[in-house]
Formats: sequence, C-alpha cells, structure tokens
Amino acid sequence: MANAPRSTAPAPGAAPSVALVGAGPGDPGLLTLKAHALLATADVVIHDRLVGAGVLALARTGAVRIEVGKLPGGPSWRQADINALIVAHALSGARVVRLKSGDPGVFGRLDEEMDALDAAAIAFEIVPGVTAAAAAAASIKVSLTRRGRNKALRILTGQDVDGFAEHDWRGLAAPDAVAALYMGLKAARFVQGRLMLHGADPATPVTAVENASRADEKVVGARLDRLPEALAVAGVRGPAILFIGLRPRGALAALDDAAPSTLSLALASGSWA
Ligand code: SAH
Repeated sequence: MANAPRSTAPAPGAAPSVALVGAGPGDPGLLTLKAHALLATADVVIHDRLVGAGVLALARTGAVRIEVGKLPGGPSWRQADINALIVAHALSGARVVRLKSGDPGVFGRLDEEMDALDAAAIAFEIVPGVTAAAAAAASIKVSLTRRGRNKALRILTGQDVDGFAEHDWRGLAAPDAVAALYMGLKAARFVQGRLMLHGADPATPVTAVENASRADEKVVGARLDRLPEALAVAGVRGPAILFIGLRPRGALAALDDAAPSTLSLALASGSWA
C-alpha cells in the first residue's frame, strides 16, 4: 500500500547495527543529512553531554535518549560502561545512534567504541560531522590553512590521560605555526609557558571561540603572553577552541567599531596586536 505509514520497528531478525554519528558543534543546521535521517529513525540515541538540544530534538519522538556525559571534574560515565550500553542496545535489536559532538573521529574515543562493537561482532557505520575547529574558524571568518601563511594545521588536545598533553613545542612556537587546541582552557597557562619557553613570539595571536555555532558563542582574543588573564577576564568556561596563530578576519580594523560583547574584550585584554 503506497500510503501505509512506514513501520519504525527494526525488521524482524535484522542484524544489529550501530551508527556512530557526528552531531557537529551545536547548530542543528550543521548536521549532515545522513545524521538527520538516522536520528529520525533511531530507537535509541546515546549522546554526549556536548550534543546540543536542537540536534537532539531531531531524534524520532519515541526514541530513547540516554546522555552519557563526561563532566570535567564531575560525575562521569566510564568509557567501558558506554561501550557496554551501546552493545547491549544493539543486541536487543534497537537501531542505535551513538551521537558524538563534532566529528566522531576527533578526540571522541571512537576507537574504543569500534573495538567494543567488533568484539561483539556488531556492524557499524561512521557518519562524519563538522568538527569544532571548522565551526570556530567559520565563526571568525578565517581559513584554517592559507597560502603564504600556514601550510599545516595542527589539531591538539590540551589534556590527555596523564594530564596536560605534551606536544612538539618547538614546531608550534615557529612563527608560521597554526594550531587548534581542543580541551585547552585548563591547560592554557601550561601551553603558554611551553610555547614561550620554546621561543614563541609573545605577541602571537590567540583566539578563543567558545560555544562555536551556538547562540551563546563568544570570541576572545589575546596575545600569547596574556592568554590566561584574557580568558579569565572574559569568563571563558568552554567548550572552547583556542586557535594559536590565528586572529579573526579583519580583527585589527574591527577594533575601532568593536561589538561590545566580543571584540571589546579583545581591547580590554590588550588585543591580538
Ligand atoms: N569530537 C569533537 C571534540 C570532542 S572533545 C569535535 O570534533 O568537535 C571536546 C572539546 O571539543 C571541547 O573541550 C572543546 O575544545 C571542543 N568543542 C566541542 N564543541 C565545541 C563548540 N561548540 N565550540 C567550541 N569548542 C567546542
């Protein structure tokens, strides 16, 4: 029957499968059509704390939504429990969407979830998403690479299992280095210290983009040598990307007629100049 409502129940005996889906940075408009379609037919949506409410609202009305948040310094789901949850729902026959902020393959512990699915012989697909650095760059209208400015973009985390993450500081301190630092707020002073120790120009521009693509997005600029103070004055709490070596397009010109909520903070903290 052409007009019969489409059943939303999984086909009986269908092999379990899971979609590991990128939710993008928050704005539902940045979701892929594929992610949207999977959400619209999901039985169970297992999502990170950072996935925006607007994105979750696109899940099928009857879908079970489970937040497996990892609060920095607060109560957290253990990764092993998240893996077990995904596997259990998949084996129950549910269509499972594992929704991860940004792109699932960027600081998303994707491999642990793929390994758990492989171990349970559950098929999976991966749907990429807009990673926070791409959204943050769009917000400040800069390209992540540019002829004659930077031939490479480094994607870094401020934290790893052992605490603050170590990196190739000498390379990062070079005048043409550009990096997008994820999870970098707590590590800001550490990163500043390491870069300056390795010869970085104290006037290197750093731009923080908090809540990129969301209604409460905030942009804060600082010179490297004043970074922690600028972040504190502006009250940046995260989630935020810290761009090392990038300032917003037209930042210097814009300082004259600065929008009070954003660029004036740059003035207060000494600006990128
Ligand atoms: N897989 C995600 C990253 C997860 S790690 C991605 O591809 O974007 C979590 C970190 O991502 C945060 O600490 C922050 O650095 C960054 N982040 C996530 N969403 C963000 C947003 N909307 N604005 C700025 N940074 C964001």
